[in-house]
Amino acid sequence: MISFEQARQVILENSSPVGVEQVSLLHSVGRVLAQDMLAPWDMPLWDNSAMDGYAVRSADCRQTPCTLEVTGYIPAGAKEDGIVVQPGCAVRIMTGAPTPTGCDAVVPVEDTDDGQSTVTLMQSVEKGQHVRVRAEDVAAGDTFVRAGAIVRPPEINMLATFGKSLVSVYRRPVVAILSTGDELIELGTTPGPGEIINSNALSLAAAVAETGCVPLIIGIARDNRESHLEKLGEGLKADALITSAGVSAGDRDLVREVLAELDAKQIFWKVGIKPGGPTAFALFGTKPVFSLPGNPVSTMITFEEFVRPALLKMLGHQQVLRPLFKAVLRQAIRKKAGKVQIVRVKLEREAGRWFASSAGNQQTAILRTMVAAQALAVLPAASEYFAEGAEVEVHFFGNYCDRVAG
Ligand code: AMP
Ligand code: MG
Repeated sequence: MISFEQARQVILENSSPVGVEQVSLLHSVGRVLAQDMLAPWDMPLWDNSAMDGYAVRSADCRQTPCTLEVTGYIPAGAKEDGIVVQPGCAVRIMTGAPTPTGCDAVVPVEDTDDGQSTVTLMQSVEKGQHVRVRAEDVAAGDTFVRAGAIVRPPEINMLATFGKSLVSVYRRPVVAILSTGDELIELGTTPGPGEIINSNALSLAAAVAETGCVPLIIGIARDNRESHLEKLGEGLKADALITSAGVSAGDRDLVREVLAELDAKQIFWKVGIKPGGPTAFALFGTKPVFSLPGNPVSTMITFEEFVRPALLKMLGHQQVLRPLFKAVLRQAIRKKAGKVQIVRVKLEREAGRWFASSAGNQQTAILRTMVAAQALAVLPAASEYFAEGAEVEVHFFGNYCDRVAG
């Protein structure tokens, strides 16, 4: 058995991006940039006004109030067409319009009498005020977003500003999902005696999609060698494979054995985590193969703790673990020493601190507690007892954790 931390480390060491592709700008949202982006021009491209008002020479406006002759008008979108602010004069100017020659300050219209032929300024004027200087944001040739950045609306804005209609991002890995078990039937049929709907495939596909990878459900391998050979072989064609069930010590648990037969090299089996102890990890060439226990709660928790970080890394993300933070326990928790225990919790914020209470019955067969949970508490392997009021480390669980109903 390897530790929770070692398992994660080995998995992350063996997960990397599967290629780069060009996508249109809007399709790049949420993706990871594969290339530094260099500014093809200055931003802003010319000195311009930050306000609607009057372009002036600050030296003319030392005393207040002061009155200047208005000699021109520059709307947004105007070209630099030789307008000059002569001494003792002002030019009416709109936000974003290029500042005229001679101007070294803009006076907002609300600090004036809004005059048409002459204008009276009510406030003193500082050199440079309300003038945006060419290249003050980004200079031509500068890297304006780095490889590894996640494309969010701000990055989209910057990329669009610089005319980038296509961007180079890491490819989305196709992740095959294979369920195993003779008891499984597909969604759409009502279970008879001994039958269970293959819910893990759907839940895993949803979780894979949430990371940004492409889920590929390949169905069910029955509990015999031939069926495993066929279905696992199919799954190994994808960029990564996740299997559920058939990885414990039962005599029908064939996943590891048949993976080995197909030349997928087992890296570890059994991890110091509860739930999720029988998790296995293998490599087929460089493709990661995650074999998760079949109990739906264990499947989801091991996906969250081991598979999600790996898939994020394959997508090019640099920050792949959810941030841990401290929460105060509302109830005492007792556990066995030797394994990290993952506890499904609900969180509340009070007086500047997070408080964690159990989301319900913590037995691994209880799916309702998973549904009720907003976060997972990660209790270290060495500890056995956490008193009420003790601080534990927690992380949010799922993309909508802040909106899970109370
Ligand atoms: P196993 O690892 O094969 O012993 O399965 C552990 C438990 O998970 C059993 O109760 C199975 O019925 C259940 N299980 C296995 N596969 C799935 C699945 N795809 N969807 C829902 N439950 C499953
Ligand atoms: Mg089984």
